[in-house]
Amino acid sequence: MPEAQKDFYETLGVGEKATTEEIKKAYRQLAKKYHPDANPGNKEAERRFKEVSEAYGVLSDSKKRAQYDQMRKLGAGAFAGGGFQGFDFGDLFSGGGTGGGGGFSFEDLGGFGGLGSLFSNLFGSRIRPEAQGPRKGNDVLVELEIPFELAVEGGKTTVALSKEDNCKVCGGSGARPGSGTTTCQECGGQGSVSFVQGGYAVSRPCPKCLGRGVLAGDPCSTCAGRGTVRGPKKYAIKIPRGIATGEKIRLRGQGEPGVAGGPPGDIIAQVRVESHPFFTTKGANIYCTVSVNVAQAVLGSKVKVKTVDGRSVELKVPAGVQNGATFRLKGMGLKKNGLKGDQFVKVEVVTPEKITEKQKKLIEEFAREGGLEY
Ligand SMILES: [Zn+2]
Ligand SMILES: [Zn+2]
Repeated sequence: MPEAQKDFYETLGVGEKATTEEIKKAYRQLAKKYHPDANPGNKEAERRFKEVSEAYGVLSDSKKRAQYDQMRKLGAGAFAGGGFQGFDFGDLFSGGGTGGGGGFSFEDLGGFGGLGSLFSNLFGSRIRPEAQGPRKGNDVLVELEIPFELAVEGGKTTVALSKEDNCKVCGGSGARPGSGTTTCQECGGQGSVSFVQGGYAVSRPCPKCLGRGVLAGDPCSTCAGRGTVRGPKKYAIKIPRGIATGEKIRLRGQGEPGVAGGPPGDIIAQVRVESHPFFTTKGANIYCTVSVNVAQAVLGSKVKVKTVDGRSVELKVPAGVQNGATFRLKGMGLKKNGLKGDQFVKVEVVTPEKITEKQKKLIEEFAREGGLEY
């Protein structure tokens, strides 16, 4: 993973004897400077940002830092040409026994999407002008395609989606378990600080503890200290009977975690009902088309029509029905909010494509009898 001759101290611009506080301070300044949100499309900034984060990941962890220092003492040879010879990077970047276990990588953080939200959390009050005080977590929008029958009858389904969630390892504190936390002196544990702006008292997330009210002894390695992780999860969704395409189902409090003590956002599932080969819907009404042959159209008939509840009913087609005529089956539509829609049946008269000689003669006779030109 790393190139040769990496000097994490140089990357962060601190001395070898720098305190944890100094390292943290340097990291925050550099991470802010090179953050992708602040440098859209700038590959060099992206590279620096990764380097800075990587350096911080090692130097902010006392155990990893000690290993790294030890390695530096082994001399330049360890750095030359082939990179970190004889040194197990998996070990250096592993999560210190906090689960997860794998090496430190940006994929673990959800790529830059994940880092983006990491940094809008870390620097929210500065990068995003709208961020002031506790605020609700982001709503998560998801498109939910459901079978026609489920929309008609209602029921349950699940949706899988990937979103920010509180880190299970540290419980959202961002502190490595066992490393302890202390109450933030800056905000007295409140997570937000007030200041006066234009004569008004305004509060915003505490810049020191990032709105948590506590300071981590060591950042949690699973979530890199941000308290949240991104991952896929399944959610059960109750589908109300008669739901239609475009309607939304809201799962309150299931969205992304709130910021600075704000409430979590919601999951909003926008429904798309799969099309059906026979039925279409509009509101609570059902539409379908049935075919009748010429004899049925001329003489009248009873035809069977399927309904959405799975039965079929008999529709009386009167003699002399016209192509396109529509009949209503009352109360056979969708049941929705205690109301029942209707089913509209359009009649399509089908003309035979092939007839026998005898049929032809009979039709000719039929035409002469009625004075029809042909
Ligand atoms: Zn964590
Ligand atoms: Zn604070």
